[in-house]
Amino acid sequence: MQENLLNFAMDSLTYYHTLGLFTKITKILMAQPKILIIYTGGTIGMIENPVTKSLQPFDFTHLIDNVPKIKKLNYEIHNIQFHPPIDSSNMNPDHWVEIAQSIEENYANYDGFVVLHGTDTMAYTASALSFMLENLHKPVIITGSQLPIGEVRTDGEENLITALQIAAARDKDGEPMIQEVAILFEDYLWRGNRSTKMSADYFNAFKSNNFPFLARIGLGIHFHKEALWRQKAHRPLKVQTEMDRNVMFIHLFPGITEQTLQYLTNTPGIKGIVLKTYGAGNALTDKWFVDLMRAAVKRGVVVVNVSQCVNGGVNSERYMTGNALSAAGVMSGYDMTSEAAITKLMYLFGMGLSADEVKKYLHCSLCGEITI
Ligand code: ASP
Repeated sequence: MQENLLNFAMDSLTYYHTLGLFTKITKILMAQPKILIIYTGGTIGMIENPVTKSLQPFDFTHLIDNVPKIKKLNYEIHNIQFHPPIDSSNMNPDHWVEIAQSIEENYANYDGFVVLHGTDTMAYTASALSFMLENLHKPVIITGSQLPIGEVRTDGEENLITALQIAAARDKDGEPMIQEVAILFEDYLWRGNRSTKMSADYFNAFKSNNFPFLARIGLGIHFHKEALWRQKAHRPLKVQTEMDRNVMFIHLFPGITEQTLQYLTNTPGIKGIVLKTYGAGNALTDKWFVDLMRAAVKRGVVVVNVSQCVNGGVNSERYMTGNALSAAGVMSGYDMTSEAAITKLMYLFGMGLSADEVKKYLHCSLCGEITI
């Protein structure tokens, strides 16, 4: 223990990431296991602006200063951070590439990765990274908090420490317990590409409505072994850095007009549409609507049907209203989350695949995102 405290000499080294978003690596603790924290921003690291009283991102040093308990973990922890840290509402695919490349560059040197991220777009980042980090065999645990880490009732401290412990966890064969991108929030660990932000208020802010939790956090961390993702074969990590942004959501509502839909489906350059339908994948059966969908599909646009309900999925055969969509060539998204569907389209089109190839992979579970 004493040795650990001695080793907590906080020697710092500075390096510059090729694209310039990350600036600093701070060596926090010398011991095993070895974890890299990637701090992107979000409430967890925010402080109150003394003038405006609104929350704004702050430097990572502030975060570590506020969690002295980290020093008690017998881990070697390093961190890198976005410069400047961002509110996750500003997250975009370039940032995902930055995170993915940082993991790739440091992959061989660390046992696990903890990504600190705002909650607002956390489920999108988790889904995107799950596709971009092909053949991932090490834990990438994303967490954040509802209250800034410096506040008395913060959930950030517990989330950060638990995320570090999960990133360090090994199974009885010494293999990483988690071999995928996951979200740790309050009482649960969820598969990243199955998660959705459910609350802007409660500490248990995330849930994967169509997939069981990967771990439940109580007195101990109880892993749900049957739910954990395992690759069939062990291949080297490969990072896909192209994410095609020519995709969109169309969220149906009673009263949506032909003019609006005509405009949206004819957006120049659009390649993929995630159509957010009612219930088990149902939509209006008006001829103009079905004709517009069919025309988009004929032009080579991939249209994926995802339910507006957070629980359950698309079953196009169940009602005539869903049947009409599949007859028009709209693909079922089954039980995929909206976040997984849109990022999967970005990823598949980003690889330069044709519409037919994209359709083929949409109905494959690439990293546990869909139940076929
Ligand atoms: N707006 C913040 C963000 O997403 C909210 C949070 O961190 O919880 O960065």
